[in-house]
Amino acid sequence: MAFDASVRRLDFPILERRVHDAPLVYLDSAASAQKPARVLAAVDTFYRQHYANVHRGAHTLSDEATSHYEAARARTARFLNAPSERSLVFVRNATEGINLVAHAWGRTALREGDEIVLTVAEHHANLVPWHLLAAERGVVIRGVPLGRDQRVDMDALADAIGPRTRLVTTFHVSNVLGLLNPIADIAALAHAAGALLLVDGAQAAPHLPVDVQALGADMYVFSGHKVGAPSGIGALWVREDLLRTWPPFLGGGEMIRSVELERSTYADIPMRFEAGTPAIAEAVGLHAALDYLDEVGLAAIWDHDRALARYAIERLRAVEGVRVYGPEGDDRGGIVPFNVEGVHPHDVASALDTFGVAVRAGHHCAQPLMRALGVQSTVRASFWLHTTRDDVDRLVEAVAEARAFFGAVA
Ligand code: PMP
Repeated sequence: MAFDASVRRLDFPILERRVHDAPLVYLDSAASAQKPARVLAAVDTFYRQHYANVHRGAHTLSDEATSHYEAARARTARFLNAPSERSLVFVRNATEGINLVAHAWGRTALREGDEIVLTVAEHHANLVPWHLLAAERGVVIRGVPLGRDQRVDMDALADAIGPRTRLVTTFHVSNVLGLLNPIADIAALAHAAGALLLVDGAQAAPHLPVDVQALGADMYVFSGHKVGAPSGIGALWVREDLLRTWPPFLGGGEMIRSVELERSTYADIPMRFEAGTPAIAEAVGLHAALDYLDEVGLAAIWDHDRALARYAIERLRAVEGVRVYGPEGDDRGGIVPFNVEGVHPHDVASALDTFGVAVRAGHHCAQPLMRALGVQSTVRASFWLHTTRDDVDRLVEAVAEARAFFGAVA
């Protein structure tokens, strides 16, 4: 069946809402995605019929909950085309996954003077954990700029990687520019220098097929809430041979083999990294969300995103005083940052809200990138599989109205 966003819209109950007496146009999927009805149903059924704590199999419900939770793990591994689910760790979100790597791997493997290479377009979630580590361990951070075409400068990246580089870490799709990073090429550069590659897939997993093996990633992280799952669950996949060597990140129940008063021994992977009661129903919701995305077809979603981004960029550019940021081309997904001359991005977003159009305004947790673009903040419209051309038209009309309104009062 051919992809049709107006049909997909019907899968999302919240999109029937009205906001300020207008039909909701939700263009903030990059911040968090809305939930398809089948995810809501899966979570509801799980709570009504199977819920209990996991891995404490003294009774039927606990066994059932454990089976559901572990099935979600296997499903998530398959979604990433990971070789096995043994090294798929459930975390709260992408941020926690990156912090886990910084603690479990970074604090044990890195020495003073070791280097981490990343780009100017990273989300703060892929900057601050490394800053904390740098302060503690004397690790050096090397930042790679964007080239003139607003893509990662691959020559500068190759130059930044040297004999002390232990980790290259970067986004798969930029949360500001919508840009697809050439991860397989970056993996080749990292591996030639003996460094590992961590990929921040927060903006890729909802939008395109991910194959960690084809990408050559050593670690890959994403958040459930951006793929249509509940908030509070995310996934970190790590190459199994690596993860096996890492010490725990958080300590507590579930992650131990045996505990004495003065010492503990730890469980095998992946449980070693899942201290405490995990996000059980959220994992079930994640399973349903990944089933949904695979059924719709991620390749079709990526084509749709890119076509919509082209359309939105063209229409927004036609509005006087609107400036759109980021590259154009086939590697540009459905995230469109822009500014309206003379109007603060927060005012633009508030004005759009009065027309029922939900967008984000701010620095998008990417302050270094904002500086590189020469702005403090932008408006950001972000699309997903339920976004239609009509939604983009409503956005463009609302932007034009907002500009006229603010122009009129200036
Ligand atoms: N990386 C990127 C590229 C993101 O867009 C985000 C979320 N905006 C994150 C990491 C962090 O995700 P979370 O807040 O779910 O941990």
